[in-house]
Amino acid sequence: MMLMTTDDGRADVNTEKSQERKSALQEYFGLLDSATRDPQNRDIWLLRAWGVMHYIQGGAGHCQHCQQAVRLAIPITAERLTGETLQYSCLCPTCTFLELKQSKRIIMQVGDARVEYPHEDSLS
Ligand SMILES: [Zn+2]
Repeated sequence: MMLMTTDDGRADVNTEKSQERKSALQEYFGLLDSATRDPQNRDIWLLRAWGVMHYIQGGAGHCQHCQQAVRLAIPITAERLTGETLQYSCLCPTCTFLELKQSKRIIMQVGDARVEYPHEDSLS
C-alpha cells in the first residue's frame, strides 16, 4: 500500500486509514460481484463480504480461543461430537480447524448465507 505523507514528510495516518477503507470497500463490492457470478459458491462469497463489511465498521476481530487478530470474523456454530453446541463470534483459521476435529460439523452463518463443514473435512 502506498503511504501518503504530510508536508513535513511524516506518514499521514488518516490518509492511510482512508486508503485502507477504500480498498476494503472495493474488496466488499468485488465479493458481492463474485456472489452474483458464482451462484454455486454464493454463500461463501456473501459470508466473506459480510466479514469485510464488519472489518470496515469495527476493525479486526479476535479469536475467542487464542486472541489472534482475525480480519474476517464470521460467526461459527460448532456441533461437538459430544452433542454439545458452541457458538463463537470469531475464530482464527487454526482454531476453526481444531474445533472441526472435535465437531460433527461447524456452521458459518449470517442471515440466509450459510456454509457447513463436516467433521470429515478435518480428517485428511
Ligand atoms: Zn485462534
